[in-house]
Amino acid sequence: MTADRVLEGLDGIRSEVEDFYRDLHAHPELGLAETRTSARVAEQLRDWGYRVTDGIGGTGVVGVLERGDGPTVLLRADMDALPVKEATGLSYASTVTTTDRSGNEVPVMHACGHDVHVSCMLGFARLMAEAEDAWQGTLVVLFQPSEENGDGAEAMLSDGLTDRIPRPDVAFAQHVLPYPAGYVGVRPGAFLSAADSLRVTLYGRGAHGSKPQAAVDPVVLAAMCVVRLQTIVSRELAPTTAAVLTVGSITAGSSPNVIPESAVIELNVRSYDDATRERVLDAIRRCVRAESEASGAPKEPTVEKLSEFPPTRNDADVAKRLDEAFRAHFGDRAGTAELQTASEDFSEIPGALGVPFCYWAIGGVDPDRYAEAKRKGTVDQDIPVNHSAAFAPVIQPTLDTGVSALVVAALAWLDVRDA
Ligand code: ZN
Ligand code: ZN
Repeated sequence: MTADRVLEGLDGIRSEVEDFYRDLHAHPELGLAETRTSARVAEQLRDWGYRVTDGIGGTGVVGVLERGDGPTVLLRADMDALPVKEATGLSYASTVTTTDRSGNEVPVMHACGHDVHVSCMLGFARLMAEAEDAWQGTLVVLFQPSEENGDGAEAMLSDGLTDRIPRPDVAFAQHVLPYPAGYVGVRPGAFLSAADSLRVTLYGRGAHGSKPQAAVDPVVLAAMCVVRLQTIVSRELAPTTAAVLTVGSITAGSSPNVIPESAVIELNVRSYDDATRERVLDAIRRCVRAESEASGAPKEPTVEKLSEFPPTRNDADVAKRLDEAFRAHFGDRAGTAELQTASEDFSEIPGALGVPFCYWAIGGVDPDRYAEAKRKGTVDQDIPVNHSAAFAPVIQPTLDTGVSALVVAALAWLDVRDA
């Protein structure tokens, strides 16, 4: 198989990929501030013969490698870290602090494994450049900023990304998740949820705490809204339709004997398809308006969108072809990934390009540790998840698997040449 030929080069670059990973892990950068990371990425790609465009959407980098006629494949890695204080105890743990967008001093950690994604993508880019005669077509390797804030893909698109790269036939991305290291999982159709965060401001009429007859109490109104909103998923959606609605913040008043003028609730919605998403968002607006009216509120509530991520729905045909390629290469280490409640902005890029895509999972947990937790039924308690201060993917076989998955996926689309 051609993938095996390309991956013969892995032994020769493994220690460099691992060194790069440890260095990147120790030097995490927040979204849209990935200057060191993107400079190192661009430098390496240039060394290997890629045509590099950097500074797209701030810190985004794209490398293009053309090898004659054939399909064009885009592969994306996200580069940003999180404001989390690392507590892994690793020798290469981050001690970095920085100033965030709001001006606060925060710790920084690669707590979501984007350092794994960048390192694997570079390993892949190098192997593909070195395996000159193994394939034909065009590779587009894309390093995206600020996935965690949900604005990195958008930043690259607003900066003219679609006109600055060859149009791909297919787009791929991968994410390290709390599965056993060595595992690769694909899922056709819905894989990651859409996420919408909203701020609802409810208006009442303030008064002395002893005179409710002179007031419209926004605290009671907010409480009614919180309860009423819980009926949207439980009473308006089919039992088989997955969605989550969480009110994560409620703020009103500052004194026990004053009825305040307004109350603010902030909530987060997860859904897996556009119809469900619209239905839930419409129902939220309907419920808060109707509860306000029921309270006799002096004016309608305002609903602001704080952030939004699209659903990640893998193309069924692309996922099937990938699944077959992964099973052929990885054997019983390849499987079907579970539906995730996390969210991603990757799909905005293939969406804007109008091309099908597939996003898959790779494992990062020591397989023995995972098996032990599974045996005890304590996977949820014992295995640190993404965004945890203890999130620490094992270096191998995680990196080898991430590099290999990218090679197998790309070669499942590019024209391959026999030895
Ligand atoms: Zn994350
Ligand atoms: Zn992530």
